[in-house]
Amino acid sequence: MKVDVFVIGAGVAGLTAAVKAAEKGLKVLAAEKGSGATIQSSGVIDVAGYFPPNHLLASASEGVRTIAEKVKNHPYSIIGGGKKAEPERRGQESERKVRRALEFFVEGMKSVGANFMGSLDENVLVTNFVGTFKPTCLCPFTMYNGDLRRLDGSSLVLVGVKGFPDYDPKFCAQSLWDILPRLGIKPKSVSHAYIDVPSLGGRGDILAIEIARKMDDPEVLENIGQSLQKVVGSAEHLAIPTCGVESPEENIKTLAEATGANVFEVASFPPSVPGYRLVKSLEKWAQKSGVSVRRGYKVLGANFDKNVKSLRVEIGRKIVEIEADVYILASGGFLGGGLKEEKDFIRESIFNLPVYSSDGVNLEEVYLEKLLSRKVFPKGGHQLFSCGILVDENLQPLSEKGEPVHSNLYAAGSILSGYNYMAEKSGMGVAIATGYLAGLKASS
Ligand SMILES: Cc1cc2nc3c(=O)[nH]c(=O)nc-3n(C[C@H](O)[C@H](O)[C@H](O)COP(=O)(O)OP(=O)(O)OC[C@H]3O[C@@H](n4cnc5c(N)ncnc54)[C@H](O)[C@@H]3O)c2cc1C
Repeated sequence: MKVDVFVIGAGVAGLTAAVKAAEKGLKVLAAEKGSGATIQSSGVIDVAGYFPPNHLLASASEGVRTIAEKVKNHPYSIIGGGKKAEPERRGQESERKVRRALEFFVEGMKSVGANFMGSLDENVLVTNFVGTFKPTCLCPFTMYNGDLRRLDGSSLVLVGVKGFPDYDPKFCAQSLWDILPRLGIKPKSVSHAYIDVPSLGGRGDILAIEIARKMDDPEVLENIGQSLQKVVGSAEHLAIPTCGVESPEENIKTLAEATGANVFEVASFPPSVPGYRLVKSLEKWAQKSGVSVRRGYKVLGANFDKNVKSLRVEIGRKIVEIEADVYILASGGFLGGGLKEEKDFIRESIFNLPVYSSDGVNLEEVYLEKLLSRKVFPKGGHQLFSCGILVDENLQPLSEKGEPVHSNLYAAGSILSGYNYMAEKSGMGVAIATGYLAGLKASS
């Protein structure tokens, strides 16, 4: 089998790269062995939420520029021109590229019916399943009206569902009530309520995805609307834990109409319905753009000299060789499978590329435990979450000597070193920006 571009990985980085490469009419295959981090995410697009660590950023554009100016190994720096570029110029160039990549993503999502709202110039504050908050750049339509700044001077009811144990609205209400004043937000009240909807099933251990699927049924949605009417009182805002799989936006609008309140979805943790919806939308976008997306294709290794010639891929019980002109490595970090632990050391799993810490130390002989801080939440995050491979300004993986390893290999997403998505809140931003650029390079 032969294709023009082989993308290893079908997370947000791989599929953004694949769609960009397919724009030029190339035959693109995006193959994944299974799910990675993208499906586990809260489904919101973090670009830059904190920088330096713990400093809340009002705008992601400011964050991207500052990071690109100050942190030389960061992917935002690299796409801005890398070490050779002068810092201010690097910051501007990086911001321009991130902006373009996000526009491409937003348009793509819109084309498959998923509206992502927000702007690179103003972070949104969304709340989550533990009643804290996070700054994010873009979020699904279903969450956008839940920007916490809207709560100032008004009342919010956080709604739980009887029989759904994974969300505790009482705990979240208390937590939000404590946190909001620290953000300068003073709501009139934050309370909680439960709805009991027999048509959701009354087992006591119902999952978010089951509730979401049932909400796509107009009859069940009507029942939920009626239950919400009973708990809304005079509150202006209602927060619900999930809102559907196939028609989440329409469902939110229907519930807002039924209650007369601003209804929004809370950002959830794994297993995350918004993360699942994001992956489904990415797959639809890729397929619509002519990309072949294949699940259950595990890349075992590569045949190469100066160039990568082909990949050995396990498909069910067979092992086949697939050739391409260009390859994009978007295999993720530990969760995706791009990095693996071998006898306490860290390796890149397919090409055996050297792996580096965020400050550029080759991890060939650094024990994994050294990358974990003794503190549970260290300032700046654990080093382990910022290690990965090094690339040049063209996103080509580098050898120990600092030279591109293969002239037809590019990389994107969380396989890259130099950033800590947990501490910075930059996960999808880096993946989309580098995925876009890798797809562009691979197709030019
Ligand atoms: C719990 C959690 C919540 C998060 N929430 C958010 C959030 O709300 N917003 C945000 O911006 N970021 C969030 N992040 C970070 C974000 O999810 C990641 O940065 C982003 O999804 C990385 O995308 P990726 O495409 O690089 O990797 P992944 O999504 O991990 O994709 C890697 C892909 O490579 C494939 N693969 C790996 N090895 C092979 C192989 N040998 N053969 C074939 N395929 C292979 C995998 O199957 C997978 O398809 C979160 C992360 C976690 C863990």
